[in-house]
This record gives sequence, C-alpha cells and structure tokens, in this order.
Amino acid sequence: MRGKFVVGNWKMNGGLAANKALLSDLIAGWTATPGRQIAVCAPYPYLAQVAAALEAAPIAWGAQDVSEHESGAFTGEVSARMLTEFGCRYAIVGHSERRQYFGDTDAVVAAKAAAALAAGLTPIACVGETLAERDAGATMAVVLRQLDAVIGAVGADAAKVVVAYEPVWAIGTGRTALPEEAQAVHAALRARLAKSKAAEVPLLYGGSVKADNAKALFAMADIDGGLIGGASLKAAEFLAIARA
Ligand code: PEP
Repeated sequence: MRGKFVVGNWKMNGGLAANKALLSDLIAGWTATPGRQIAVCAPYPYLAQVAAALEAAPIAWGAQDVSEHESGAFTGEVSARMLTEFGCRYAIVGHSERRQYFGDTDAVVAAKAAAALAAGLTPIACVGETLAERDAGATMAVVLRQLDAVIGAVGADAAKVVVAYEPVWAIGTGRTALPEEAQAVHAALRARLAKSKAAEVPLLYGGSVKADNAKALFAMADIDGGLIGGASLKAAEFLAIARA
C-alpha cells in the first residue's frame, strides 16, 4: 500500500549505548501519523535491543540483509525465519554495498527477496546504477534488469515488496539525484511493477537524502519516501526527513 515511508539504514554503525540514545530520541520525537511510517534497519546483533526498545512505539524495524537459504551449513548467515521469529518486519536486500563488496548478484538478491516473503518478511529491494552505467546511458536498463530479477523470483507476491531506487553514485557521497531525475526512474519502475499488478508498492529513493533535500524529492509523484543511510544515525536529522 502506498503511503509515505522513511527507512533508516544504520549500516555497520552503532553500539548499545549509542543505539539506546538514538532510539529514545526517535521514540520521543515521532508520533504515529496516518499515511506515514518510519522504520530502522539495524545490524543483526542489535535487533533484539531495537525490538525491545520499539515494542510499544509506532516505529517498525528490520534487518539489513537476509539469507536466501532456509537453514543449514551457511556459516555467518541469518535466515528469514530467524528474523521473523522475534518480530522482525523488514529486510533490505540488494543494497549496493552488498552487491559491490559481497558479490550479491541479481539472482542472489531475487532469491533473498523470495526467501524473505516466504517467511513473512517484507523485503526492501534496492536497485540502482553505478556512475559508469549512468554515464553510458544505461540507468533504465540496469534498474529494470535488477527489478525484473526480483519480480521473476517472487511472482504474484510482487505487490508485497518495497522497492528502493538508490543510484550508487549518490550513496554516502553527498551527491543526490535531482528530484526530476529520480522521478523519471521511479516512473519507469512503477510502470514495470504495474505489469505485475504491483503498481501500489512503496517506491523509496535513497542516496544522500538529508533534511534539506528530502521535501523536494518526496514531493515527486512516484517517490513515496526514502531509504536513509548516514542521516539516519542522527535522530533530529532522520525525524526532519521523515516529517518532510
Ligand atoms: C543507504 O545506505 O541506503 C544510503 C542511501 O546511504 P546515504 O543516505 O548515506 O547516502
């Protein structure tokens, strides 16, 4: 269902004391608002802390990845069932840092999305082009290929996915796509999702979103919110983005 949705991706940051302070500032600063939702995606070891802190708060939470496997000899992996067992709702799949540093291919990302859905988790599936791909005029081809892999793996469940467009050149760089550029990509993604009866999925934008550029991005017709990295570690900044 479309509505405004802002998700924080803490990446490999945090600690028990810092998380406690961040979560209590988020709880104090966020009021349940119809049509608006926020969530935080924390590193695995802190999910129990996040779950306990947010138990009574109108803030959802998730993981930053999930295994494509159900169980077995996959040392270091965490399955979707393990996450749902203690209340996890979302899992990011296909973040560009996973694709770039850990070899997550389109097929692996698609399998992770399918595994998440099969266990009742909502995957936040990331797509995005590198700077070289953008310069080669391949943005649409790349993001649609990445999206098609996910749609192909999840079939009729495509309407249960959240999609995040994150141009790789904009992540953690301070460079952001112009609202109109991001909107053009989102419109293409939505058109492709519509063919799978999934036109209403939330389409998030990610890449150096800050309080001062969020409003213009989120005002675009097909941008339903954001996936926020660096700025999600500061409660005031994250809340300002969520209110934008
Ligand atoms: C991200 O990690 O998904 C992200 C968008 O990072 P940043 O906001 O720091 O660019």
